[in-house]
Amino acid sequence: MQVTNHGVVIHAFGWSFKARLAKFVRAFICALSVLFACFLVAPQISAAQDLSVLAKLDVAETSFGDTGPDVEVVLALSQPVPWRTRVLADPPRLILDFREVDFGPIANVPVRSAHIKAVRAGIFRPGWSRLVLELDGPYMVTRAEMGTEGAQVHVIVRLGPVDAAVFAKAAAVPEPLDWALPTPTTPLRPTQDKNDRMVVVLDPGHGGIDPGAERNGQSEAKLMLAFAQQLKELLLREGVFKVVMTREDDIFVPLETRISIARAESADLLISLHADALEEGEAVGAVIYTLSGEASEAAASTLAERHDRNDLLAGVNLAGQDDLVATVLMDMARTETAPRTARLAASLEEAMKSADLKMHRVPLQSAGFSVLKSPDIPSVLIELGFLSSPRDLARLTDGTWRARMAEAIRDGVMIWVQEDAALQGLR
Ligand SMILES: [Zn+2]
Repeated sequence: MQVTNHGVVIHAFGWSFKARLAKFVRAFICALSVLFACFLVAPQISAAQDLSVLAKLDVAETSFGDTGPDVEVVLALSQPVPWRTRVLADPPRLILDFREVDFGPIANVPVRSAHIKAVRAGIFRPGWSRLVLELDGPYMVTRAEMGTEGAQVHVIVRLGPVDAAVFAKAAAVPEPLDWALPTPTTPLRPTQDKNDRMVVVLDPGHGGIDPGAERNGQSEAKLMLAFAQQLKELLLREGVFKVVMTREDDIFVPLETRISIARAESADLLISLHADALEEGEAVGAVIYTLSGEASEAAASTLAERHDRNDLLAGVNLAGQDDLVATVLMDMARTETAPRTARLAASLEEAMKSADLKMHRVPLQSAGFSVLKSPDIPSVLIELGFLSSPRDLARLTDGTWRARMAEAIRDGVMIWVQEDAALQGLR
């Protein structure tokens, strides 16, 4: 067995039966190594987003199954990569992080386990892929090996049921300090020193390990990224905006980081872009959401909770989120920001209606979306449509429709900017 300084655990498969004891000791050390790997892994936070994938997944050789009460995961990779395991609670999950695996085809692997409730995978942060298995109860890793067999590398992870207290302790182990995604933080800064350019933050929803809604091979994450890039170009052409994106790639960005990015850029407004799936009610057409403690529609609170849950499942807890803005006199700022946000939403609605774009029967709604919680930045979340509606799906994947929608949003923003400036002048 070889343990590198990255905390990589590499095993040779097909070992001879020299001694049962040796095997036991080896397995034990191996499990220990993985535990320590949690602390040893020191992911380099590189400024450049290196998205080159190192290892490919062999679907045919990959499996999820049960052995009695235990769960066994076997992943076949094209080459060894640094990796680590850990568990997280609420809901109980096994997290496997790799540097870096293309998990694209994992949806084709049948889950033959009664204990695995859901499997999701994708890029968690630049250079790191994450596989998340949602479990039906508390389990701990009893075996974790990466071994080579010919040209192929097998990762074997076995889970055994444990009592809740043991699990809770393991799940509560904090991540290494530099493991969390970089969160730009900045003091509040007046908007004058920006060459008079308004800063618009575009926030394509989801990304990486969190694809958002998926229908007919389309994912909300990818559609919204493409749309945001299109909208960015349109806004830049006006010559009065600086446009910042919360993500430029198909990568996971926690909700908290999205807000941090807006703050670091002293954003004048934030537009979060989504196209979720929502089966209940008549979810069709665009909706513009603003922040409210109380949801205007039941479906709106479902959406807000689901977005928070996506973060949680990916391994990011929003519990510290309110600390982020705790230094701001939040209520005061919100009192001032709320009417400006309401006018932004109304302006966007008007622009979409005059462009004859399909809107929801209640086009302006409110809910407790975490990404809208900056107290001093007018922020809206636009559901451009719902992937669960075949008609919306057809529109969202139609280039002409998307261009019209992007133009309408640009127009709505432009009108709001002028109105807002005029009203600010009146104070
Ligand atoms: Zn969404």
